[in-house]
Amino acid sequence: MNQSLHFVNRRSLIRSAALLPFVGIADSVLGQDPQGAKFALPALPYPFAALEPHIDAETMQIHHDRHHQTYINNLNAAIEKVPVLASVETPEGLIRHIEQIPEQVRVAIRNNAGGHSNHSLFWRLMKPAGGGPPTGALADGIAATFGSYDNFKTAFEAEGLKRFGSGWVWLVANKGRKLEIVSTPNQDSPIMTGAVPVLGNDLWEHAYYLKYRNKRADYLKAWWNTINWETANEQLKLSV
Ligand code: MN
Repeated sequence: MNQSLHFVNRRSLIRSAALLPFVGIADSVLGQDPQGAKFALPALPYPFAALEPHIDAETMQIHHDRHHQTYINNLNAAIEKVPVLASVETPEGLIRHIEQIPEQVRVAIRNNAGGHSNHSLFWRLMKPAGGGPPTGALADGIAATFGSYDNFKTAFEAEGLKRFGSGWVWLVANKGRKLEIVSTPNQDSPIMTGAVPVLGNDLWEHAYYLKYRNKRADYLKAWWNTINWETANEQLKLSV
């Protein structure tokens, strides 16, 4: 790498790292890997079988232990290539200003810090014996924005079905602090648009294929029975 390119990358990174603490989404629950890798897989907050029959134990085990771990491994490898990135404490901090990440690792950070952030939230948005109607401020927000919880579910499922290929469907508090249903491709996060994710469902086939095969619609309907509304309300609070 020549000196001038090195300077540009380093300068943009310092600017990025300096901005990041002020942007306002709380840190994920992250462990530091004792082996020295930057990020470590957060423990699943319930047993693999806890979401049965809506999400099967084998899917949860593979999804958490292999897919999420792979995003973390690839994220750590990208950070090792550009060590100044290790000063950014959270995956959200890395993707919030993705355009400021050096080009050599930008795609890897986008996919893998995105994947780490999305999955860390996803596990916490579900719980055993979850679901039921929304609670707290989010119940009021859903009623005010969508008319009813049923209307909201219908619109969320429709957005999830529309996503071609892999991605996520979200309820976000957008930049204008309005609730909105959006979908993102791949592992892109709403955080990249300045929004706060409130609810998010994983549309990748790895999230449902063992049990639901090609029936994404059935998975989207079953997923409501897993929702942890406490986590969703915590997320909503981050937007105000
Ligand atoms: Mn996934």
